[in-house]
Amino acid sequence: MSTYKDQLAKNLALIEEKMEKAASVRGRKRDDIRLMAVSKTRSFEEIMTARELGITLFGENRVQEAESKFPVPMPAGMELHMIGHLQSNKIKKVLPLVSAIQSVDSLKLAREISKRAVSLEMEVDIFLELNTSGEVSKSGFPDYSTLEAACLEMQSLPALRLRGLMTIGPLGGNEAAIRRAFAELREAKEKLNGALDSPFLTELSMGMSGDFTIAIEEGATLVRIGTTLFGARD
Ligand SMILES: *Cc1c(COP(=O)(O)O)cnc(C)c1O
Repeated sequence: MSTYKDQLAKNLALIEEKMEKAASVRGRKRDDIRLMAVSKTRSFEEIMTARELGITLFGENRVQEAESKFPVPMPAGMELHMIGHLQSNKIKKVLPLVSAIQSVDSLKLAREISKRAVSLEMEVDIFLELNTSGEVSKSGFPDYSTLEAACLEMQSLPALRLRGLMTIGPLGGNEAAIRRAFAELREAKEKLNGALDSPFLTELSMGMSGDFTIAIEEGATLVRIGTTLFGARD
């Protein structure tokens, strides 16, 4: 085994141990939570090393970078999600690469994605991003009522499969603030399901390297981990 693969395996084992423990705190099962390897800034070789260790889900936040690194179609058993702010003019490029867009933050963007997906004769999973930290620098719907109004409209858009919600916890926040943000996303999902024609939102994408155990305790179904797996980014 190469040194890099050894290191990654060690990091992954630690992450798995923490995921298991955080899940058990709330009587949940590790297998109910998906681990995404956030591969921004990593080479395709590094990504394939993670793949060899059993990771199947990857996340990128820039369309251009994702496009330059990943082949189309994606290698068997590999899946990519878009997790960064998406501009309308990049939708056409990103759709063939990804199975989900987690960073949908406006009705306008959802309409554009739907239109493009229809013309490409494909469907795409959608997560709606909510800004739970109140940090203005962050993308995402600014509050619950805007999110709900948009989501109700999106139900009828073709080629979109609304899967759930996504958030980024407050950066450098204390544990209480982080926990509050994640609880807010969970409550938003419950409220939305009550407002929809049928309760079909199941996913909660929340938790990164610094806060994924808190996110799992608060109900995350998908955690997005970069640094703790691959090491510090340049
Ligand atoms: C970079 C990024 C992550 C992963 O961050 P780490 O702290 O390296 O684990 C997760 N989610 C989003 C949206 C990101 O941009």
